[in-house]
Amino acid sequence: MHAARIADVATARYAIEAGLIDLVGMTRALMADPYLPRKIVELQEDRIRPCVGAAMCIDGIYTSGAAYCIHNPSTGRDLDLPHSVDAAPAPQRVAVVGGGPAGLEAARILGERGHTVTLFEAGPQLGGQLVLAATSPRRRDLQGIVDCVSPAESWSTTTTAALRPSTSPRRSCARRV
Ligand code: SF4
Repeated sequence: MHAARIADVATARYAIEAGLIDLVGMTRALMADPYLPRKIVELQEDRIRPCVGAAMCIDGIYTSGAAYCIHNPSTGRDLDLPHSVDAAPAPQRVAVVGGGPAGLEAARILGERGHTVTLFEAGPQLGGQLVLAATSPRRRDLQGIVDCVSPAESWSTTTTAALRPSTSPRRSCARRV
């Protein structure tokens, strides 16, 4: 068994299929997306929210006593911020201004609740400071946060990006290699 920094299903699958190990533990991957096993079963691997290896969860244990996740605000706040959200009783048209990580997550949640979301971003691409941070080779996996919530088929990456179509933003988290 191996259980250290197996962050994605492709790596886990390879290790098992190649006979390197019989069992894989994916602790942080499950913190980033507790529905990872279900999404494998339901053939929705492209919707798994990836662990991006930022280790905020580990550092947080020592600084705040809580293992929060940089990619999943519900982790560690499960009672107040549930991982699954209910549909809104009255869907609205909503504008989100700013395509940084907070704006992207807000747009995703609003879309999952059934609202019609339009995201406005003045910059040339979505991601905000994450894009800058991901230019560091040690932090390139941070780009996974942007890719995960801004699938090419639904979001424009040009200025004043608009979320299309007028349905829930689909989470697509295909891992970059
Ligand atoms: S904080 Fe970072 S390392 Fe920890 S589970 Fe979340 S994405 Fe993974």
